[in-house]
Amino acid sequence: MARTKFMMHDCAYCHKQTKMERIGEMPSSATENDPIKVWYRCTRCKHSALITIAPVSKEKGDAGVKIDRSTCIEYSQDKVFSVGQAIYHSDWDDVGTVLKKDKMSNGIHSIVVSFEKSGERKLMENVVPEASEELNTQPITQVS
Ligand SMILES: [Zn+2]
Repeated sequence: MARTKFMMHDCAYCHKQTKMERIGEMPSSATENDPIKVWYRCTRCKHSALITIAPVSKEKGDAGVKIDRSTCIEYSQDKVFSVGQAIYHSDWDDVGTVLKKDKMSNGIHSIVVSFEKSGERKLMENVVPEASEELNTQPITQVS
C-alpha cells in the first residue's frame, strides 16, 4: 500500500477540513508504539501543522491487543480458571485475563483478573455451593 501524500484534516487556520500535503516526519522516538508526528501543509492557506497519527495496531501478539470475546470463558464463581485464561464477566460486560490464582485464609479460592475496562479485580473461583449436601435431591439449575 503506497503512502498517501495528501490527507483531509482540520486546519487550525482555515477552521475547516482541508486537503493537507505531507511535507515531513518527526524522527520517531524510543518505542514503535509511539504515535507518529508528521508535518502537513494546508493546500489552501499554506500553513503547516504537526499532526499526530495514532499508531497502527499490529496484527500479532502485542501487549495492547484486544481480547476476542468469542475465545473467553464466561466467569462464574463455581468454575475453576487457570493463569493466562481469557474470561468474560457478563455482569460488567468486560473481558480480562487471569493474572494469578490465590487461596484466601478462609479457604476460598480466588483469581486476580486484569479487565480491559474495570482494571485489576479479584474474583472468587471454585466456590462450592453451601447446600452441597442437598445436591443429590435438587436439580442443578435451582442451586443459587
Ligand atoms: Zn488552512
